[in-house]
This record gives sequence, C-alpha cells and structure tokens, in this order.
Amino acid sequence: MKKALQEISQGLISLFEGMRITLGQFFKPTVTVHYPHETLKMPPRFRGHIELVRDPETGRAICYACKLCEKACPSDCISVEGVKLEGAKKRSVSNYMLDFTKCSLCGSCVEACRDGAIRFSREYNLAGLSKDDYVMDLFKRLENEAKAPEGQGGAAVEKQPAAAEPNPEVK
Ligand code: SF4
Ligand code: SF4
Repeated sequence: MKKALQEISQGLISLFEGMRITLGQFFKPTVTVHYPHETLKMPPRFRGHIELVRDPETGRAICYACKLCEKACPSDCISVEGVKLEGAKKRSVSNYMLDFTKCSLCGSCVEACRDGAIRFSREYNLAGLSKDDYVMDLFKRLENEAKAPEGQGGAAVEKQPAAAEPNPEVK
C-alpha cells in the first residue's frame, strides 16, 4: 500500500512538473513560423546564392559583362557573356550562369564587382532533385522577376551599396 502511494505521488509530481514546463512555454513569445505557408525574412547579412542586381532607373541588369567576378571566383562557378547593344556605350550582360554546386559563398565575386552588379540573395528555400537544379541562369532569373506579379518575384531588386561601401542595413 505504502509503495503504491509513493508511486502515485511520484506520478503526480512528474505530471505537475510536465504541466509547469508546458505552460511556461505556452506563454513565451512565438519564435517559429508555419513553414512553408509562412517564411522568415532573412537578415541583411545572410548569404544565399549570388544574384544580379537591377538598375532601378533603367530596369535592366547593372552588369556589363566585364568578367571580373568570373576571374575572381576561386571555384570556377561563374560564366558571363555580354553583348554590345546598338547605341550603348557599354556592353550588357546577355548570359550569367552560376554553378551553385561548387560555390563556397566566399564573396570574392561580390567584392570584385566594382559596380554592385551582384550581391548575395536572401534565398534559402532551395530544394532540388539533381545537381543540375543548382546550375542557375541568373540573367533569366532577373528577367523572370521583372515579369512576375508584385510580391512573387523572388528576391528584392532594389540597388544595394557596392560591396566596398558600408551597408547601413547591417547592425
Ligand atoms: S557582375 Fe560585376 S564584375 Fe561580374 S561581369 Fe558583371 S559588372 Fe563585371
Ligand atoms: S561566392 Fe565565391 S565561390 Fe561562390 S560564385 Fe562567388 S566567388 Fe565563386
């Protein structure tokens, strides 16, 4: 009888301890989201794969295919091609491929670009079935963003400060 009472009291203590912990967590602020219906906004210093930046005035990519980023990449991830459009002073990028399977997110390409034409995206939602899914056509991606309805264009396209300048967003 005594043993049974001991077991019951231990069980009750354990039950109340569990409820105390559960209620404590219940009233704490929520830190999770209902993924994939909700996603978190990545902080400014987050490094997703690189992406081309659009000039807000012209609406076109800032990149003029100088290939400095291609040469700076230690992993040979980048392949850039450009064309000289009629009447234009500079070339314009016509193809920008990134092999993200080889990228170490080192940032050498972003640092090498003097015009802030590439930056790290905030993209963390990548899933694929083969390595080919990570060979990205960044020029096409930028064009598709322009065509997408507002709010469905992937990463924001506002111009950010060049890599050498301090980013005021960074806390
Ligand atoms: S992203 Fe910058 S460094 Fe790379 S090709 Fe374009 S302008 Fe040149
Ligand atoms: S972040 Fe580094 S490894 Fe990745 S593409 Fe740029 S230079 Fe290459």
